[in-house]
Amino acid sequence: MTTWSWKHVVIKVGTSSLTDDRGRIYPPKMWAIARGVQVLQQALGCRAVLVSSGAGAAGRERLGLNLPLTLPDKQAAAAVGQALLMLDWARSLAPLPVAQLLLSAADIQDRERYVNARNALESSLKLGAIPIVNENDSIATAEIKLGDNDTLSAWTAYLVGAEALVILTDVDGLFEADPRKEPTAKQIGVVREIRQVEHLASEAGSRRGIGGMVTKLRAAQIATEAGIETFVIGGGGAGLEALARGEVRGTRFLARSPTPARKAWLAQLPTRGQIRVDAGAAKALRKGRSLLPSGVTGVSGSFSFGDAVRVVHDDTVIAQGLSNYESGALVRIKGLHTREIFAVLGYKDYDEVIHRDNLVLSRIGG
Ligand code: GLU
Repeated sequence: MTTWSWKHVVIKVGTSSLTDDRGRIYPPKMWAIARGVQVLQQALGCRAVLVSSGAGAAGRERLGLNLPLTLPDKQAAAAVGQALLMLDWARSLAPLPVAQLLLSAADIQDRERYVNARNALESSLKLGAIPIVNENDSIATAEIKLGDNDTLSAWTAYLVGAEALVILTDVDGLFEADPRKEPTAKQIGVVREIRQVEHLASEAGSRRGIGGMVTKLRAAQIATEAGIETFVIGGGGAGLEALARGEVRGTRFLARSPTPARKAWLAQLPTRGQIRVDAGAAKALRKGRSLLPSGVTGVSGSFSFGDAVRVVHDDTVIAQGLSNYESGALVRIKGLHTREIFAVLGYKDYDEVIHRDNLVLSRIGG
């Protein structure tokens, strides 16, 4: 049975899904998750990237530290706990190799570091490893932290171009009331509009991790806005195995397609340059497809990644959108097949020059 068609899925594993009551990593929980990851990969033919918490908790326990902790204590706990965490993941996921990636907010905000992180993820995947991401807590201080792994998981999903983000936690998704206080509270199966359920997230938090439902909704917001379907599910490894069969033991947040408001916003942006395209590309864009390098015949102006540009065919502006490549790079890859991008540039940020979600057709000629 085919269930989801995902090529990449990011699975966020919260501290509560990995540890026992004292905050120690509890291997049977980890083994079950590792099995769930493998089942999901095999059933869907997809690749998983894990975002794993648990370093702080494992380190605190190992060093015998009691709350509240000073910043140096926290840094030491993360440093000690991260090593334990990876050791356990490596054992649990064997024979697959695991790749540790420790990120901080700057790795996502700074363009060069972002590309670097993305390349590291891509090459680890290409070489058959399972990337395991965590925040670089032993170095990052409060001011430069993302702070919670829910947010980090949404950014990671964005970074690897995942189709889905799965947040594993100790409650089965979102409920109409806190299920720990009201056992009959109804679970919410599908969410289309996060704003409409925000008020439900104020109380239900998880015991040991940092994020509660509020940060999970924020992560779902970031991911779904970027077109990534998001699941908040319980049940640990069994929850992942159920998901592989198409069964959601929690809440599914549908990815958003670009709204008319976003299209209007895209249309009014001042443009920095122009991309000329051939007839085939012009036709594809009018059908709502993305612009690929193979259809680009010329580039003028000087623009950066993310700048708005006009798309021109036969001297007519047919669309405008946000370019995924800066003008210099685009000159080098114009006319090429997407699989040639890497060889020419030494990196490949995107298959598309302009993704259809970031493109609006002009009225004239559109
Ligand atoms: N990065 C933290 C850790 O590994 C966890 C943050 C969170 O629970 O969201 O302990």
